[in-house]
Amino acid sequence: MTASVRRYSPADPGPDLFEQEAGVLQAARALYVADDADAERYRAALGDLTLHFERLMRETRRLIARSDRAEREMNALNQQLQTLTQQLEYRATHDALTGVLNRGAVIDQAGQALRRNGGAMIVLDIDHFKRINDEFGHPAGDRVIQAIARCLQELVQAPAIVGRVGGEEFTVLLPTLARDEALTMTERLRQRIAQEATGPAPVTASFGLSLNPPGTEFELAYGLADAALYRAKRGGRNQVVLAD
Ligand code: GH3
Ligand code: MG
Ligand code: MG
Repeated sequence: MTASVRRYSPADPGPDLFEQEAGVLQAARALYVADDADAERYRAALGDLTLHFERLMRETRRLIARSDRAEREMNALNQQLQTLTQQLEYRATHDALTGVLNRGAVIDQAGQALRRNGGAMIVLDIDHFKRINDEFGHPAGDRVIQAIARCLQELVQAPAIVGRVGGEEFTVLLPTLARDEALTMTERLRQRIAQEATGPAPVTASFGLSLNPPGTEFELAYGLADAALYRAKRGGRNQVVLAD
């Protein structure tokens, strides 16, 4: 009877992983119900059962180890995926040069904040920036844009929003409707840039400011601040103008 049992070979486990065990089990069952079996046949069947039981334990341990390894690999891949998703989301919403919100994200986030709570919208544009590019080159101009963004980030804290809407133009949304508070903050930004945005030459910026009640659309708040910015430019630059 034992001769009919195929020995297990890892290289050739057979069509069914448990085919050999099924055979051994069947033989042992048949022996169990036979009332004429002798001790030698019992011994042989027990030997086969022992052999295959040990193999099953080995196989099970190997499978558990493999599944643990696969789980660890999957966890590591999941972690990588999460990191990549975060990086992707950051890149999709932030300006690569300055790290502040990009145009799309600032329109989106400031738009939501304005609709819900309103706020003071600041639009600022660097004064005579073409001259900096012309005289010192585009890379020097880029460093000035970065320095301006740093000034804004140092002074403006969340939940206020800072974004770069265009080339050398930034938008700040302050969570206040108080005229004096908004004007004071905007004036502080203007002074900080004039004093500290160290570039190859002195740098200033002009500011337009609009105060917007809850429910205001981004385009309206921006348009009012932009018109005020235009007046600040015409009024001599390096100044803050509050929208009518
Ligand atoms: P104004 O005081 O009237 O604003 O004068 P301006 O020279 O700053 O005029 P304007 O705002 O129209 O100039 C924008 C210039 O900014 C033109 C463009 O070459 C430059 N610019 C836009 N984006 C970038 C950028 O990413 N890097 C650099 N270096 N320059 C940029
Ligand atoms: Mg401009
Ligand atoms: Mg400009």
